[in-house]
Amino acid sequence: MKVLLILLVLLVPLSVFSQQGDPDIVIINGKVIDGTGNSWYYGNIAIRDGKITGIGRDIVAGHAKKVIDAKGLIVAPGFIDVHTHLEGDEDRNPEATNFIMDGVTTCITGNCGSSHTDIGKYLSWIDSLKISINVATLIGHNDIRKAVMGRANRDATPAEMKQMEAIMEKAMKDGAVGLSTGLIYIPGTYTKTPEIVDLASIAAAYKGVYSSHMRDEGDSVIQAINEALTIGREAHIPVEISHFKLSGQQNWGRSKETVPMIEAARREGIEVTIDQYPYTASSTSISTLMPDELLADGQDSIKARLLRPELKKYAMDYMIGRLKKRKLKHFSYAVVANYEPDTSYNGKSIEAINLMKGRKHNVKAEAETVTDIMMNGGASAVFHGMSEDDVKRIMQYPFNMFASDASIRVFNSGMPHPRGYGTNARVLAKYVREEKVISLEEAVRRMTSLPAQKFQLKDRGLLREGYAADIVIFDENEVSDISTYEKPHAYSKGFHYVIVNGRLTVDNEIHNGTRAGQALFGPGKTL
Ligand SMILES: [Zn+2]
Repeated sequence: MKVLLILLVLLVPLSVFSQQGDPDIVIINGKVIDGTGNSWYYGNIAIRDGKITGIGRDIVAGHAKKVIDAKGLIVAPGFIDVHTHLEGDEDRNPEATNFIMDGVTTCITGNCGSSHTDIGKYLSWIDSLKISINVATLIGHNDIRKAVMGRANRDATPAEMKQMEAIMEKAMKDGAVGLSTGLIYIPGTYTKTPEIVDLASIAAAYKGVYSSHMRDEGDSVIQAINEALTIGREAHIPVEISHFKLSGQQNWGRSKETVPMIEAARREGIEVTIDQYPYTASSTSISTLMPDELLADGQDSIKARLLRPELKKYAMDYMIGRLKKRKLKHFSYAVVANYEPDTSYNGKSIEAINLMKGRKHNVKAEAETVTDIMMNGGASAVFHGMSEDDVKRIMQYPFNMFASDASIRVFNSGMPHPRGYGTNARVLAKYVREEKVISLEEAVRRMTSLPAQKFQLKDRGLLREGYAADIVIFDENEVSDISTYEKPHAYSKGFHYVIVNGRLTVDNEIHNGTRAGQALFGPGKTL
């Protein structure tokens, strides 16, 4: 009897232990940067069933199935990229290698007004597809508007407004994290502020955010920021201003005006934050060179307009005028990234393409080359138009996040902007290690807990017991971006291990094919 009792006493704690079980992974000897912005410390982390089950100096490797010795390495939460455009590329490369190899474990897509309109269907498709990163999505205003009124250049009628509101509300209930706009794109450019306030109010009712690709990032940037803040104020919604920048040489240095506007708005009580990609070139559709009013109603209409000599002249004069404002003599700053009808254009500037076609070396001929490209369906392009000083000044703002503004890359396809491969590594290498613009702990905070807080990803962005085990382990001395404008298809270096939902995905700097990402839902799903 006595023996039995002793056995029982021994068995009880043992059974408790076996319920908790051995950790799947224990990370030892690393310098832990937990995402709060606090200093690094030596600590160990235990992971089981996708969660962090223990963290601190007291955690031992014990019977862990896998032990990662992170001696000399930084252990941080997986990076959250708040501004991506995954749509259409998820199943082309479900391993999302460009993101994973840059330390990204969660992407927020549906930005710049562009997304799926059936968010429930999209998120369940993401779950069934099984990709290597977690995905949350905004719903894009341009796609809501297109679904109801096409690319029409006019205000919505009350009946159309009702239809747009219904799409918006359903998206939030289905788990969108908020509303995005792309007010330089069609049909966003045709939309007035009250329409956005109306839809953003619905996002606010379901605890979402408003992410804005503003109406202008150049000459009219002040008005554009004010419009984003007005939407925040009137719709009572947190605002994220996307890829915060100053475009065009004539606007360089104006971050001295624009960053204080963000600070002032926060003092007023508007919950506004910003994000940036750490590069001086942007990347978007070549159509952004053209006057908005020529872009309505789709490609056939664009072509028909450009076939009319007076409208073609109007487009060319507009482009030449804007180039002069930039104090440039040629379209050398605009480099085609992907032009479907002729891929020999890819990687060449408009100036170079124009010469290649045997045309005169002047702006008029170059503007004509742009209209030719537009007649044939347009192209994506990289625009070299920002100043390094502005990039750094924006970076020093503490409530600025880092975001790639990129999609999942298919290796060696097109000449995309390098930010899709190297955003985080570039911040950690160039701006933290080499130029000391911000500290390592601060950079990690902006890549992790700040975005998680803003987008309400409640169990991510920090290294905490009970949180999802999204973890990156990197060498702070070695981490670097390899992708360049000339050779974009190159993975970042220095991320030795990446863990997504407790599953080792990068092992010794190699993506091992694990696809453990999940769809993440906004708060409206459970309200
Ligand atoms: Zn954008």
